[in-house]
Amino acid sequence: MRQTIVYHAKKHFSLASVLLLASFGLFLVIAASIVVRPIVAAGTKTATVHPKEVPTNNFDVSYPIFGIPTADATMKQFADSKTAEFLQKLGHEKYNLQNSLVLRYTVLYKDTRRASVVFTEQEQRVGMPTVISHRTMTIDLLSGKELGLGDLFKDEHQAEEVLGMLFFDYFKERHASELTQQQFVGLLQFKLANAREFWLQDGLLVLRLDPSQLQNGKKDRSIAIKRDLLNDILVDHGSNDQATSDSMADYSIVTQPKPGGAIDPGQKMLALTFDDGPGGYTNRVLDTLHKYRSHATFFVIGRQVLGHADIVRRTINEGNEVGNHSWDHAALPTLTHDQLRQEVDDTQNAVRSVGDGYTPVQMRPPYGALNSSVADFLGSHNLKVALWNVDTEDWLYRDQQSTYDRIMHSAGDGNVILLHDIHPTSVEAIERAIPDLIGQGYQLVTLSQLERYR
Ligand code: ZN
Repeated sequence: MRQTIVYHAKKHFSLASVLLLASFGLFLVIAASIVVRPIVAAGTKTATVHPKEVPTNNFDVSYPIFGIPTADATMKQFADSKTAEFLQKLGHEKYNLQNSLVLRYTVLYKDTRRASVVFTEQEQRVGMPTVISHRTMTIDLLSGKELGLGDLFKDEHQAEEVLGMLFFDYFKERHASELTQQQFVGLLQFKLANAREFWLQDGLLVLRLDPSQLQNGKKDRSIAIKRDLLNDILVDHGSNDQATSDSMADYSIVTQPKPGGAIDPGQKMLALTFDDGPGGYTNRVLDTLHKYRSHATFFVIGRQVLGHADIVRRTINEGNEVGNHSWDHAALPTLTHDQLRQEVDDTQNAVRSVGDGYTPVQMRPPYGALNSSVADFLGSHNLKVALWNVDTEDWLYRDQQSTYDRIMHSAGDGNVILLHDIHPTSVEAIERAIPDLIGQGYQLVTLSQLERYR
């Protein structure tokens, strides 16, 4: 019966198509699941969006910078539009810190001409369930234009014929029992518009198909096709396009890669906090955080901010949180009201001036020293008192091993760990501890992120 369907379906295609199908048949090997390895493309940097009119920590929005103005503008425009859309949804609720938008990305592919990026958006509004959505985008790096699936092919009609046959072949070989006869015929009538999304990966074109076209009631599928198979019908691609490995299956089922950095509320998390910087070792902490796609909170001393503007800016731009640790490490309860105001406001202003409007929402009182009038003052200045529950005493021992041990022994879901990024021994300790914590399944998040989920 199936043979008959094949015959009738093939009748609609040209002889050339049938020959193409035959030659694809020769290439067909047993498909294996491949591991999607999102890449951090060389030369790609991260930028962030901070709407000025709302508390900064409501928004944790980042997008890639390729260093090509038109492409970067497209990415920024996307991040800005998501931010504006969320602000509009919030309306008068925009000052409520419990509302949050997290936008994270992963560069799936990049050659000299094109890049594929997947964005994950995590939207949280008071009284509403968390909404998580994905958006895949392939852009022409030179024009900045977002490419449609049809833009990848010399001829859309030809592409539909060839892809239809490939899918037909794939399902016939692998999942014949899953499809009805009608769905088999439907595969041969594949339309580019039926692909819900697509993206490029090294050597592969991945298409996510409309589930209604495939299996009833089953999860939708993303199918990766070796681009070598499509060379004749694809438009010329950029150089640097990695050659396909011979061992790669011609077709594979892939799952959509998840951008690193999106927080999974169901997985354990902790907040590393670094006091008394910025200083000469802060960049090393930032390097390690960046390498492991992790984030932390830095409680800065106001008078050190202007002299280390680049570091503070980098801290913010890489998605970390910057908090207030007073202007000159004063014990706040000993101050007059005016002195207190100056210690706090001058530091806020210093961070705002170097951080393009970024406004700290957390204040860690030096020595943890606090009384009710200080607490009232901070509350009226939209600053939360940020203490800790794990003290590594790194400033006291200044010993790499002891600091590492204290971090690892006290690691626990929801913990806030106190460290100082002004001691090289502390920095050495966290260079070891960060990968080890991640190995234990911890997500390293900022204090405001931790408060949102724990
Ligand atoms: Zn301190």
